Amino acid sequence: MSAHTDLTRNQSLVLDRLEKAETPMSAYAILDQLRDDGLRAPLQIYRALDKLLDMGLAHRLESINAFVACAHPHCHASGLIAFAICEKCGQVSEFSDEIVRDRLAGWADREGFVVNRTTMEIRGNCRACAA
Ligand SMILES: [Zn+2]
Ligand SMILES: [Zn+2]
Repeated sequence: MSAHTDLTRNQSLVLDRLEKAETPMSAYAILDQLRDDGLRAPLQIYRALDKLLDMGLAHRLESINAFVACAHPHCHASGLIAFAICEKCGQVSEFSDEIVRDRLAGWADREGFVVNRTTMEIRGNCRACAA
């Protein structure tokens, strides 16, 4: 079980699944694995995921429509989240980069664009798969 005590049972179950997953999971894959825990409806999964995304404990990878647990909880003050997604093995590494963040913040300043969030997704092959 996850150590986050302020979560509902469903939210903890979903986060626990994501934390144990080797690769990103679709909402339906999560549902499949939680049937034995009494979750039956996709809506239960989506509600829990929405909350986890709000709290920054999980992220949605838009390009593959799947979810991952946050690799670095509470370090998103910088406003940039980046993911490198391996197209071969499905591994995802989450990172952030201050130079990229500063460049984007500079652009937003000049344009007067108010940024809510920035998510970068890099697709390719991880070191192991590229070797
Ligand atoms: Zn994160
Ligand atoms: Zn790989």
